Amino acid sequence: MDFEYGIIGGGPAGYTSAMMLASHGHSVILFEKDRLGGTCLNKGCIPTKTLLHLSEVYKQTLETPNMGLDIEIKNFDFSKVAEKRDLTVEKIRKSLELAVKISGANVVYAQANVVNKNTIKAEDKEYSVGEIIIATGSEPRELKGLEFDGKFILSSDDVLRLNYLPKSVLIIGSGAIGIEWARIYSNFGVEVSVVELAEHLIPLADIEVSKRIERIFKQNKIRYYLSDSVEKIENKVVTLRSGNVIEPEIILCAVGRTPVKPDVSCETILGDACGEIQLAHYAIHQAKKFALGIDYDKNLIPSVIYGEPEIAWVGLREQDCGEDCKKITLPVTALGKSWCDDSTDGFIKLIVKDNLIAGAHIVSKEASALIHEVLIAMQNKVTADDLKKVCFAHPTYSEGIFELICRV
Ligand SMILES: Cc1cc2nc3c(=O)[nH]c(=O)nc-3n(C[C@H](O)[C@H](O)[C@H](O)COP(=O)(O)OP(=O)(O)OC[C@H]3O[C@@H](n4cnc5c(N)ncnc54)[C@H](O)[C@@H]3O)c2cc1C
Repeated sequence: MDFEYGIIGGGPAGYTSAMMLASHGHSVILFEKDRLGGTCLNKGCIPTKTLLHLSEVYKQTLETPNMGLDIEIKNFDFSKVAEKRDLTVEKIRKSLELAVKISGANVVYAQANVVNKNTIKAEDKEYSVGEIIIATGSEPRELKGLEFDGKFILSSDDVLRLNYLPKSVLIIGSGAIGIEWARIYSNFGVEVSVVELAEHLIPLADIEVSKRIERIFKQNKIRYYLSDSVEKIENKVVTLRSGNVIEPEIILCAVGRTPVKPDVSCETILGDACGEIQLAHYAIHQAKKFALGIDYDKNLIPSVIYGEPEIAWVGLREQDCGEDCKKITLPVTALGKSWCDDSTDGFIKLIVKDNLIAGAHIVSKEASALIHEVLIAMQNKVTADDLKKVCFAHPTYSEGIFELICRV
């Protein structure tokens, strides 16, 4: 046997398993056909959040006259933004490559195929391994009649390669990817329309979260069409089932991702390839469980959608609640910090059952951080009475959680 573990795919699931196993003394070989970091680092989480940040800086700069600063933007060159996006990814990738090397895992940059349960083939060479781990990720899902052409109908991979801003975009799907791109483009002044098959934006979120985001989109002049879909496209003219006609410069189709899996059966499949929860932190947690035996509760995986304001949730939603649930909501306007930050749109909502938090839904600046305070309480079954004893600093958004807990 050449190696104890052979891992195919160098995204969060693959590199986390590789580093954890190798640093615990196991011999590991990791195969990656493209770049280490996978979708998350190269085509997902990191480049989109970089663009989101830069788009917010752009928008805030345009709004500086409200703060007494009259800044004149003489020139705006989106290719520099694209450069910054790529540099950020590169910097993180270099650190990751180093970390993997230090862990002692071996990396082969090549397409790998499973030959049998103990053999992997890459570049005409066969590697015998004790166990194979599939961490091959996922790819953008294509809709019939809306096949990606890389020019007019784009996937989330294609849109990240653009080094210019279109004048207008139609986004199909309002999950995390669709919402974040709507925000990025809208901040940069691009005309954005979103079409969603479900009755509300972000169909997986708590209903109040969806409705608030719809209101915020309206305020930001992002058009959206609900319970609707694309009926036909002729000469770049899009007709929706509702009869509405849109003429976007590009279409971004963001309707989910399809797992990439080998045809042969494998016992260990981690990350997006499983087709379960397609999030980087879920992939990382699955890898931790595999490598170190650290368990997790699948019902306590947080969801976050970035932008201004952030959206985060975990656990039971309004639409899942029975009579035994208590719902308590605080508008962020009740928090001094939101006024200091000029970020007053949003709310913190807790769903409480038997004196324990059963769900949390937050639309607020810093929601991505706040959700973990609630999550730690949920994971450890900390009662509302015990949470009341915690002293929350002022002025913060966390005070909102304290305020709500005191109402239980
Ligand atoms: C636009 C976008 C934004 C996102 N934002 C977030 C976010 O903010 N937060 C979050 O948690 N998640 C986010 N995600 C999801 C996240 O990127 C994925 O859940 C995560 O990357 C899954 O990790 P993985 O290791 O399972 O797969 P991947 O990251 O897809 O990695 C799989 C790797 O396997 C390699 N590979 C495949 N087949 C082979 C083969 N035969 N041989 C060798 N190598 C192979 C691929 O090249 C790839 O590098 C986002 C996704 C997208 C598309």
